[in-house]
Amino acid sequence: MKKIFKSLLIILMVLSVIGCSKENVEEDKSEAEILDYDVIVVGAGGAGLSAAIKAAENGSSVVVLEKMAMIGGNTMISGGELAAPNNWVQDVEGLEDSVEQFYNDIMAGGDNIANPELVKVLSENALDAAIWLKDEVNVTFEDYMLFFGGHSVKRSLVPLNASGVEIITKLEAKATEMGVTILKEHDAEELINVDGKISGVMAITDDGEKVFNANKGVVLATGGFGSNIEMRVENNELMDEKILSTCSVGSVGDGIVLGQSVNAAVVDMEYIQTYPTCDSENGRLLYVGDVRLDGRSILVNKEGQRFVEELERRDVISFAVTKQTGGVSYMFWDEASMVASKVNVKHENEYNSLIERGKLVKADTIEEACAHFGIDAKQLQETVNNYNTYAKDGKDLEFNKRGELTAFTEGPYYIMESTPAVHHTMGGLVINTDANVLDVDGNAINGLFAAGEVTGGIHGTNRLGSNAIADITVFGIIAGNNVSK
Ligand SMILES: Cc1cc2nc3c(=O)[nH]c(=O)nc-3n(C[C@H](O)[C@H](O)[C@H](O)COP(=O)(O)OP(=O)(O)OC[C@H]3O[C@@H](n4cnc5c(N)ncnc54)[C@H](O)[C@@H]3O)c2cc1C
Repeated sequence: MKKIFKSLLIILMVLSVIGCSKENVEEDKSEAEILDYDVIVVGAGGAGLSAAIKAAENGSSVVVLEKMAMIGGNTMISGGELAAPNNWVQDVEGLEDSVEQFYNDIMAGGDNIANPELVKVLSENALDAAIWLKDEVNVTFEDYMLFFGGHSVKRSLVPLNASGVEIITKLEAKATEMGVTILKEHDAEELINVDGKISGVMAITDDGEKVFNANKGVVLATGGFGSNIEMRVENNELMDEKILSTCSVGSVGDGIVLGQSVNAAVVDMEYIQTYPTCDSENGRLLYVGDVRLDGRSILVNKEGQRFVEELERRDVISFAVTKQTGGVSYMFWDEASMVASKVNVKHENEYNSLIERGKLVKADTIEEACAHFGIDAKQLQETVNNYNTYAKDGKDLEFNKRGELTAFTEGPYYIMESTPAVHHTMGGLVINTDANVLDVDGNAINGLFAAGEVTGGIHGTNRLGSNAIADITVFGIIAGNNVSK
C-alpha cells in the first residue's frame, strides 16, 4: 500500500514538473505535500551545509533534508580537524609545506589508487576552503595544529575546542542567514528522475510523505556507511559486527543506494578504515588519545613493547594492533605531555568516564600503572628508556617516528587501553571534478551532484586524518556552486 502511494506521489510530481495539472489528479494532489525549490540538498552534515550555503549565495532557493532529529552527522561528532597546506598556523610556526607535498601525501596515503584529478582539486582548494570557513562562515580555529598519521608535515588546523560542533554550529548559522530551509526528520527515500534529469526527492516525515521538486538539481551529502554492518560486510567481509564503529547512527549509506537507483557508479567500496585508538566498550573515538597526535605518547602492547610507528597511517596502526595480545594497544604518556596537550581538559567528560571505567589509569609510577592492566612493567620501563635516548639523539631507531621526539620525564604516568573501530568508508558515488555524479557508463547524471563521505575515489585505500573535513568543504562548495548554475 505504501509502495502504491509512493508511486502515485512520483506520478503527481512528474506531472507537476512537466506542467500537467489535469483535473482528475487534483483531488489526489491535495493528499501529498509538494514543495518547490531550486536546489535540494540531502543530508545536513558539513558537506551538505557547505553546498547549501554556496547554492543560496548564488541566488537559489535551497532546502536541506535531514533524516535525524538533529543536524550534523559525523561532522558534528568529529574533531573537526582540517588539513590545509600553507596555512596561517604553519606560517607562524615557520613550517614549510606545499600543495604538491599535500597531493603526494594523499596519493601515497591511499596507496596511489585515488583519482588524481579529484586529489588535485582537493589539494589545490583545501586552504581556500579553510579560509572560507574562517572568514565567511566565522569558524574559530585554535592557534595550534595536530600532526595526523601519514602526513609528511604538521598541517592540520583545529577548530575551537577540537570539535566539529564549532563547524556545524557556524555552518548552520550561515545557512540560516542565507535563507536556507533546513528540515529535520525528513528521510530522503527516492530520487525523482524525469526524462533523465534528477528533478526532485521524495522524503518520509512524521507527517507522511512529501515530494520536493528541484528546479535546478539535487546534492547528495548523506555521509558514509560506517554504521551499516550489512553494507560493510557486503563490501568487505572483515568489517563484521565484531568491530564497533565510531560513526553516527545516520551513516548507513543511504545516498549510495539513492544514487545507484538512478544508475550511478560506485568505486572503492571495499576500503573501510578503522581508527586505531577507540573505546573497547562502545567504539567511540577516544579524543584523549589525541596526545598521540601531539607526538607525546607511545603505543605499547601487553608485553610493554612498542610495535608500530605512532604516527603511521591508521590502517597500518590498526592492523598492527590486531596482531597484539588481546587485540588491544596501550597508550603511554607522562604528566608533562598531559599538561602540554591538555587532553584531560579539552575532553574532560571522556577523560572522567575512562578513569571511572578503568580504561585509563593515572599512577605515580610506571609499575603501578602497568599493574592495572597486567602490562610487563620492567619491559615498559626499558621501552621508555630507549625512547628517551632516541628523543635525546633526535632519531627513533626502532620505528623512525616522524616529527619532534619529546622524552618522558617524571610521573604521574598515564596508560589508556584502546582498540580499532570502523571509522571512515573511502568508497562511494563516482563524481567528476564538478561534483557531478557519474553513471555506470561514465556519463554525468543530469541534475545530480554529490559531496562528502558519500563519494568515493578521493582517498584511495585509506583516508589520512583531517583530510575528510577538507574534502567535504572543498567538494561541498563545488557541488553547491555547480548545482545552482
Ligand atoms: C568520531 C569521528 C571523528 C572524526 N574526526 C575527523 C577529523 O577530525 N577530521 C577529519 O577530517 N575527519 C574526521 N572524521 C571524518 C569526518 O567527520 C567525516 O568524514 C565527515 O564529517 C563526513 O561529512 P559529510 O557531510 O559527508 O557527512 P555527515 O557529516 O555524516 O553528514 C551526513 C548527514 O546526512 C544525513 N542523512 C543520511 N541519510 C539521509 C537521508 N536518507 N535523508 C536525509 N538525511 C540523511 C545524516 O543523518 C547526516 O546528518 C571523523 C569521523 C568520526 C566518526
